[in-house]
Amino acid sequence: MDQHAVGDNAPGGHPAKNEAPTVPGYSHPSARDLDVLSRQLGRPVRDVVEIPARCVCGNPLVAATSPRLSNGTPFPTTFYLTHPVITSAVSRLEAAGLMNRMNERLAEDSGLAASYRAAHDAYLVSRAEIGERSGIGAVPEIDGISAGGMPTRVKCLHVLVGHSLAAGPGVNPLGDEALEAISEWWTADRCYCDGAWDTGGEAPSQDLSRHGPQGLPEIVGRPAPVRNTQKHAEENHADEKTDSTEAAQ
Ligand SMILES: [Zn+2]
Repeated sequence: MDQHAVGDNAPGGHPAKNEAPTVPGYSHPSARDLDVLSRQLGRPVRDVVEIPARCVCGNPLVAATSPRLSNGTPFPTTFYLTHPVITSAVSRLEAAGLMNRMNERLAEDSGLAASYRAAHDAYLVSRAEIGERSGIGAVPEIDGISAGGMPTRVKCLHVLVGHSLAAGPGVNPLGDEALEAISEWWTADRCYCDGAWDTGGEAPSQDLSRHGPQGLPEIVGRPAPVRNTQKHAEENHADEKTDSTEAAQ
């Protein structure tokens, strides 16, 4: 059952030093998962504790980051969309202004606002469960803080889509809508991995841990890079690697 870290479930049952104990049944991302994630993102990944959504072929679509990074920093953005085909499709929706319309609807439609608030609550529950399973435990500094603008605003569609893919349909209404809206470019029933990232050579390995996460709120400090073309760029939005990749081609 255990396919990873030496020492985690070593004979004798003593967790390795500096490794949090995990609960039985917990499945750590494999070395291959981490390799694919770093290629998808074009940078090394850190503190990824689970792969909550996968392509039909098995490749990761979403990475779950520990609610507390290994340097001790509380980290509220649990679900990070990694598949380049999906991230670039979602960026198209953002560029087309979908978030503005969603925010207008949240202000007018109390039913939608209530389901969106429920999605925020579900996000917090999932994060607590992941913290529990991965041996991180509670992270009180980020109690009540989710991501992506939840519970009342939409600030990052990538966060909502990552949540929807991780949670399955019916949990995050606006993430579900965004997934529906990218069906022209990506659907769950097919593999879109071929050619979506560089599979040759070494995976990115230098330490780029200061990257700006998707929808990271102010609590964790450093703002993410700003995209001038986006109206919401001032709101700690992610630096979308796919944009620079496309621009470089
Ligand atoms: Zn695939």
